[in-house]
Amino acid sequence: MTDKNWPQTPHNNNGIPAIDAEQQKLLHLVEQTDLLVEQGASSDQLLRQARDLIIFTASYFKREEKVMQALKHPSLADTLTTQSEILQSLLLDFNKRDFNQEAIAEFIVFLKNSLLTYFKISNNHFTPPYNILSDKITTALSETVSLAKHHAVNIYIVDDEQQYVDMMIEMVGIAGLSAKGFTSAKLFINHPVVDTDIILLDLNMPGIDGIEVMRTLYDKGCMPTYILVSGFDDRVLHSAKQFADAKNILVARKLSKPINTKKFIRYISQLHIETRLQLTNTCVPHKKAASAPRKLSLEQLKVAIHENQLVLFYQPKLNITTNKVTGFEALVRLQHPELGLIFPDQFIAMAEQNNLISELTSEVFRLATKDYSRFRSAGINPGIAINISAQDLLDLSMPERFYELAKAKNIPPEAITIELTETAILKSVSDSLDILNRLRMKGFSLSIDDFGTGYSSLVQLYQAPFTELKIDQSFVMRMLDDDEALSIVKICILLAKELKLTSVAEGIESQEIWNKLEQLGCNLGQGYFISKPASIDACCEWVEKNSVLKSSPYVDSSNLP
Ligand code: C2E
Ligand code: CA
Ligand code: CA
Repeated sequence: MTDKNWPQTPHNNNGIPAIDAEQQKLLHLVEQTDLLVEQGASSDQLLRQARDLIIFTASYFKREEKVMQALKHPSLADTLTTQSEILQSLLLDFNKRDFNQEAIAEFIVFLKNSLLTYFKISNNHFTPPYNILSDKITTALSETVSLAKHHAVNIYIVDDEQQYVDMMIEMVGIAGLSAKGFTSAKLFINHPVVDTDIILLDLNMPGIDGIEVMRTLYDKGCMPTYILVSGFDDRVLHSAKQFADAKNILVARKLSKPINTKKFIRYISQLHIETRLQLTNTCVPHKKAASAPRKLSLEQLKVAIHENQLVLFYQPKLNITTNKVTGFEALVRLQHPELGLIFPDQFIAMAEQNNLISELTSEVFRLATKDYSRFRSAGINPGIAINISAQDLLDLSMPERFYELAKAKNIPPEAITIELTETAILKSVSDSLDILNRLRMKGFSLSIDDFGTGYSSLVQLYQAPFTELKIDQSFVMRMLDDDEALSIVKICILLAKELKLTSVAEGIESQEIWNKLEQLGCNLGQGYFISKPASIDACCEWVEKNSVLKSSPYVDSSNLP
C-alpha cells in the first residue's frame, strides 16, 4: 500500500479541534453508507462504499496517531499494531475476498457502532484512551474479517459421534477459527478448561452426558460458555438450558441436530467476538452480577426509613409505537452515609420480614408524589408507577391512605400505577382482592409485575382488576435466542390484548428486541436500551434532551387495544 492511499485528511500535529471536524466528515460518510445499506444497495455498490469508508477511517486514525505520537501519548507505546495498520490490512482483505451483501452490511453497521463508541469515549476525556479502543477495534474488526488468529479463546467440541465432531470442526474453520474435538466426555472433563473457553457440547452421550459435563466443570469452578447441541427434540435442549440457568452456567446458544450450517457459523462467529470483547474490555456484561451485599443491619434500615435515606430512581416507560414517554417507574434505593447506594435486593426482603414494609411503602409513596410535582414543574406530565409488596396487601387502610395522599398533592389517581407481583396476592387472596378492588375503584391503575414467573398467573389475572400486564424481563431478554421465551412473550401480548390490558415489556436491552416487540404489537417498553433508572434530575434532563413528549397523558391510549 502506497502513501497515495491516504490523502484524505491533512496531517496535523496539534489538533483536537481538527479532530472534531474530521470526525464530522467521517460520520457523514458513515451515514451515507448506512443509508445505502438501508436502501438495499447492490453488493458491488456497498463494497465500493465500504472500501472508501475504510480508507477514510484509516486516514483518520493515521492522523490521530500522529497527534498522539506528538503528544507522546503513553498508550501508543504499548500498542503493537496501530489502528491505521489494522484498517490497512483490512482493506487488503476486502480487495482479496468475496463478501456477500449481508456480510458487508453487517460490517458497516459494526464499524459505525465502534466509531460512535470511540468518539463518545474520546470526547469525554481530553486525550482519547487509545489502547482501550485499539483492543476493541483490533479484536472485533479482525474477528469480523478473520485477519488475525487469536488463541486466547479456545473452542472445544464434545460429541460422541466422530462425524459430528469432524463436521463441526470444519464449520468452525469456515468461520475462520479453529477447534479441538473430543469424542470422549470422560477425557474432556480432565482437560484444563478456563472461563473464556467456548464448548460445543452434545447433550446425549453414552456414559457421561452433557448435563454431567456441565455439572462436573461447574463443581471444579470452571465457568466456560456453552453451545448445547442435541438430537432430541427442542424441549430437551430447553430444559437443559434451564438447568444451566439455575446454576448460573452460561449457555449462549442451543442447536438441534441435524445442524443448520449457516446458523452454526453465525453463532460461533458471534460468540467468539463477544467472548473476545469480554476478554479485552469490560463494556459487555457477561454474567449478571448481583449487587454486592452491603451488610445493612436492621437498625440501619429503620434509621434509613425514618431519616430520609430512601431515594427514588425513575425508569421511563415508552409507547413502543410512538416512542413517547407515558410514565416513570419509581425504584427505591437506600443512600447510606457510609455504605453508599444500596439496591432494593438488599433491603426489601428485610423490610418484609421485620414488619417495616408498610412504612417503607408509605415513604416511597410520599417521595413519588412529591417528585410528581417536580416532574410537572419541569413541564413533564407523566404517569408514575410505584411497587408494592405482598405485605402491603394486608393493610386494609392502604387504598384510602394513598387516595388522600394523592388528593393532598393534587395528583389524579389515574396518574398513579401500583405494581405488584402475582405472588403478592397469594398471601391472602380475599384481603388482596378487597384492597385491589378498592384501589381500582378510587381510580389507581394496577399492574401485574413479573408476569409469568408466579404460580397461578392466570387465576390472578382472572380475579383481580388489573389494567396492565408486565411481561417478566427474563422472557424479554431471551426472546431472540430462545423460541420458548419468544412464544411466552407473544402469548402475554395476546393475552393482554384479549383482556384489554396494556402490555408492557421490561428488560429491553437492544434495538433488535425493541423492533421485535413493536412487530408483535406490545404497547409499552422499558429497559436499559431506553434508559437505566436514574435520578429525577437526570430524567428531566433526559426528557428535555430526547425531546420526548413532555406533556404526555399518563395513559397514552392511542395504541391500546
Ligand atoms: P421490578 O419491579 O421488576 O423492577 C425492575 C428491575 O429491573 C429494576 O431493578 C430495574 O433497575 C431492572 N431493570 C430495568 N430494566 C432493565 C434492563 O433492561 N436490564 C436489566 N438487567 N435490568 C433492568 P431494581 O431497581 O434493582 O429493583 C429490583 C426489584 O426491587 C424491583 O423489581 C421491585 O420488585 C423491587 N423494588 C424496587 N423498588 C421498590 C419499592 O419501592 N417497593 C417495593 N416493595 N419493591 C421495590
Ligand atoms: Ca416493577
Ligand atoms: Ca418486573
